[in-house]
Amino acid sequence: MLTFYSPAHQLHHATELKDGVLMPCFETPSRAETILARVREQGLGEVLPPGDYPAERYARVHTPRYVRFLEKAWGEWSATGRRHDALPLIWPVRDMRSDIEPEYIDGKLGFYAMDAGVAITAGTWEAVRGSANLALTGMDRLSAGGQDSAFALCRPPGHHAAAEYMGGYCYLNNAAIAAQAGLDAGARRIAILDVDFHHGNGSQSIFYSRPDVLFASIHGDPKRSYPYFLGHADEKGHGPGEGFNHNYPLPHGTDWYGYRTALEHAGRTIATYAPDVVVVSLGVDTFKDDPISHFKLGNEDYLRMGAAIAAIGRPTLFVMEGGYWVDDIGVNAVNVLSGFEAAR
Ligand SMILES: [Zn+2]
Repeated sequence: MLTFYSPAHQLHHATELKDGVLMPCFETPSRAETILARVREQGLGEVLPPGDYPAERYARVHTPRYVRFLEKAWGEWSATGRRHDALPLIWPVRDMRSDIEPEYIDGKLGFYAMDAGVAITAGTWEAVRGSANLALTGMDRLSAGGQDSAFALCRPPGHHAAAEYMGGYCYLNNAAIAAQAGLDAGARRIAILDVDFHHGNGSQSIFYSRPDVLFASIHGDPKRSYPYFLGHADEKGHGPGEGFNHNYPLPHGTDWYGYRTALEHAGRTIATYAPDVVVVSLGVDTFKDDPISHFKLGNEDYLRMGAAIAAIGRPTLFVMEGGYWVDDIGVNAVNVLSGFEAAR
């Protein structure tokens, strides 16, 4: 399997507000480097750089003004004399105005964010672009034919980012950008299977009213888990998209036996949809030792997960999302890919 990787991710190394304390972000550069080392150690296949793409490609699923905001945010923040990370701290909730974009950067940060888990630093935009370009390059290789699977080693992750907001360590939605690129290259239907511990609220939101991208997500029940305000089982899609959104919220403490039932159901749903490509939002924060998540999967379970995804039987692009127990992130992510290849 080809892996797409760029060192540009190292330019994004941020802080986050967690448990009321400002601390180094769990979403750290060592995550991607650990996965890359494991890809090489296991001989998964060639590691290739991404292509370069114009920002218009991201604006196929994000609004142009949001993409512009991401590009300019650090410049506007640092122009005010501040050198530490830019963090949003006010949001347009419920009956406040969300139709007028503020002019000042502090207002813009809140306007385009769902939470404070998205610090912007001097290198964030380069890292974010690089990450999206990996997903685009992976999809382009599948669209061109000759490959039936690829791994975009994306960092920062993307699945919490919606058309016009960032959140949960995510800025551009890499999986959604790749799915749209697949359609633009001629695919009729794409499915996104999100196996990250957290609900992929951004991906769901982007495609909620569309029948050409089916979204299925297996995640911690939002009644108790981030992102709290989306990801319930009764969210089935809207209008022409009705019936093309499938959520599998599971309780804290879910192990492989509980997880497998949901994964097999999602797999059958996707196989019936018969997409031209499956995009897997590959988070491994379902691991038992993950410091911010609450499932109980073990190292070997990721091999089984890969085999279950292979059973869908479609060309597959894996896009890296979460996973915060760095000691095992390489083993777990590559186990999914190896389990997939062994079962093909
Ligand atoms: Zn996650």
